[in-house]
Amino acid sequence: MKIAVCISHVPDTATNIKIGEDGKTIDKSGVTYVLNPYDEIAIEEALKTKEKIGGEVVAISLGDDSNKESIKKALAMGVDSGVLLKDSNYRDSVSLAKALAEEIKAQGAELVFFGKQAVDYDNSITGQLTAEFLGYNCVSVAVGFTLEDNKITAEREIEGGKEVMETTLPAVITTQKGLNEPRYASLKGIMAAKRKTIEEKDAATFDNFVEVVAMKRPQGKQAGKILGSDASAVPELVRLLKEEAKVI
Ligand SMILES: Cc1cc2nc3c(=O)[nH]c(=O)nc-3n(C[C@H](O)[C@H](O)[C@H](O)COP(=O)(O)OP(=O)(O)OC[C@H]3O[C@@H](n4cnc5c(N)ncnc54)[C@H](O)[C@@H]3O)c2cc1C
Repeated sequence: MKIAVCISHVPDTATNIKIGEDGKTIDKSGVTYVLNPYDEIAIEEALKTKEKIGGEVVAISLGDDSNKESIKKALAMGVDSGVLLKDSNYRDSVSLAKALAEEIKAQGAELVFFGKQAVDYDNSITGQLTAEFLGYNCVSVAVGFTLEDNKITAEREIEGGKEVMETTLPAVITTQKGLNEPRYASLKGIMAAKRKTIEEKDAATFDNFVEVVAMKRPQGKQAGKILGSDASAVPELVRLLKEEAKVI
């Protein structure tokens, strides 16, 4: 069976992000990009599934040439081949998901793993949208996954417990921390990755329905106020919490 895993190339969370001169995109200069951490979990689950039932895993990423770094990391972890859908223009999640769905269909993949969220734009929706465009079943934010014959059993964390879901192939699964422990790329894997192919093609274009009009940095924290050091400060504290902070 063909298994696909969709991966995003995102700024390292330790990077100090600056807003670009246009006020609506990030300034990419000096930004270190990495494979999205949730997508490492998706790759691990795809590889574990292949090791159990056989088949082939393809990693698909939409973006510019720099996304090849994350595809190479996936190949070094053990993914069989990669596809770069080339586009460096802004895409909303719908346009992204439509292009991914088209490629997944062309690949004939019946099982598709996504991370639950890309840690840059945080929409947490691409997997679910792609499932809808493909007409596949979908379980999101999975912390457990098994596939027996055609039947998938997946677990999701909910408030105070776990939910156990069953569905059938074809399906999209979005992965959450706790599902597995992603493997490190071994030296053998890194060497083997050099012989694996990354197919490059222009990403299919679709209309965007959402446009980013501005990006803003969070306001800096205000200095704290010291109202006093004994009980006499309490009335003023209560007044400020009510009238200024409006939290009581
Ligand atoms: C070329 C490009 C330029 C963009 N420029 C901007 C911009 O300037 N400003 C802005 O706010 N947003 C921008 N975006 C982000 C866009 O608005 C969407 O938010 C984004 O495409 C999907 O949302 P997300 O990254 O939050 O993914 P989520 O929905 O949070 O991601 C969930 C999962 O979807 C998969 N996934 C996500 N992205 C990709 C990908 N590119 N390829 C393959 N799989 C993926 C991964 O498995 C990921 O874990 C850009 C996107 C692209 C592709």
